[in-house]
Amino acid sequence: MMMTEIRNSASMRPVRTGVSFDVLVIGSGASGLAAAVSAERAGARVGLATKTTLQACNSAKAQGGIQAAFGDDDSPEIHAEDVMRSSHDTANPRLAEVLTSEAPSAIHWLEELGVEFTRSNGGYRLARCGGASRKRLLQVGDRTGHAITKALRDAYEAGPGTELPHHALVELRPAESGWTATFRRKDEEAVEVFARAIVLAAGGRCYAEAETRGELSTNHPNATGEVTRIALEAGAEARDLDALQYHPNGGAWPDTMQGYSIPETTRAYGAVLLNADGEEFTDSLGPRDAVSQAIFDEVDKGKGVLTPDGRPAVRLDTVRISPEDAEISLPYMLRRYRGAGIDPLAEPIFTYPVLHYQNGGLVIDERAETTLEGVFACGEIAGGTHGRNRMMGNSLLECTVFGRRAGKAAAERATT
Ligand SMILES: Cc1cc2nc3c(=O)[nH]c(=O)nc-3n(C[C@H](O)[C@H](O)[C@H](O)COP(=O)(O)OP(=O)(O)OC[C@H]3O[C@@H](n4cnc5c(N)ncnc54)[C@H](O)[C@@H]3O)c2cc1C
Repeated sequence: MMMTEIRNSASMRPVRTGVSFDVLVIGSGASGLAAAVSAERAGARVGLATKTTLQACNSAKAQGGIQAAFGDDDSPEIHAEDVMRSSHDTANPRLAEVLTSEAPSAIHWLEELGVEFTRSNGGYRLARCGGASRKRLLQVGDRTGHAITKALRDAYEAGPGTELPHHALVELRPAESGWTATFRRKDEEAVEVFARAIVLAAGGRCYAEAETRGELSTNHPNATGEVTRIALEAGAEARDLDALQYHPNGGAWPDTMQGYSIPETTRAYGAVLLNADGEEFTDSLGPRDAVSQAIFDEVDKGKGVLTPDGRPAVRLDTVRISPEDAEISLPYMLRRYRGAGIDPLAEPIFTYPVLHYQNGGLVIDERAETTLEGVFACGEIAGGTHGRNRMMGNSLLECTVFGRRAGKAAAERATT
């Protein structure tokens, strides 16, 4: 393909141009990978651009699991009711319905790609997570995000799609019958890429937000949110951008575990939150915002504890988890804590909420299209599916369900 060199008016640096795709996906977390695989399988020529390496993302850090209604007493409708209740009726009911009704088929799709969910008694090992009325959380040990992103990445890498690592999106402009994306490469060169359809899958902004606030965050350093800003500058609409979520159980001690998200499955398997007097002060399996607020309130009332380095905390009584459940569903967490000199099965651990997730984001419809024609969004960058308060385990699900939808719809748009 012909490459020409022009000048980028914004930076006056040389811009290399001339590359084009049917579908250009921005971001290589679970949502971007799902979109790229789907677009390719729908017959599109796909480019997958990402800020640093393909492996660098929040998705791979996800431990707890992914929700889907497989239990005998469960259904997609009950799952959707839980989403609406946890969101305090702020979620878009149509997006919640898509999320929950496609959850079982999304799980089967991931299995076809090689993800092996933990099983017991001939079925999936299901846990009940915060805000859920049924046991619905599937897990791959406690490395669920790692397993999902690896399978998706392997699937994409096995196909003919192009990878553009170390391409940070800096601008998006409408072009004749498509969009032009400008990237800054690792070598500082600017590159322009044309695509008939774009999928924005660049995640949230909690790492940057925590830095600004001087707080801890569970997020990967690439979670800085500039792609949301770029989309807004291009004219996209957003919702609930002010609604950021605290993970109730950030690690508070030892210092090497500060910012680590203690999997919510610890509470699903029996751990409870205790104040300084050893009393349970909240429903440990309540919705995330309620549990985080209860911890903040308990500490404000002077009923918290202090970590050895003087940070506020409460105790998470992980001693109540059975060794069998811990070995099957929390092996990574156990290894991390024991490596740091603390055995969570022998003593309670210190915890305090940490900045974790961007609930809001770009407005999308059921096909994951934003308010900009030909620009799709999926995963944490998109808003509406969880309203102002996401349930645990519904983000990896959203990445898979809406990533697939975005990839397919973008391919249809680009190739018809
Ligand atoms: C520690 C942790 C544990 C979690 N546990 C769970 C869980 O158990 N279950 C669950 O459902 N959810 C969980 N979550 C939430 C969930 O993992 C994320 O919300 C979700 O995976 C986000 O996926 P994504 O594809 O939208 O974004 P990400 O996975 O964050 O990927 C974003 C991608 O965009 C790239 N990018 C960013 N900016 C640019 C740019 N300017 N140009 C190009 N590329 C860019 C990044 O490098 C990255 O590749 C957890 C999150 C964390 C941090």
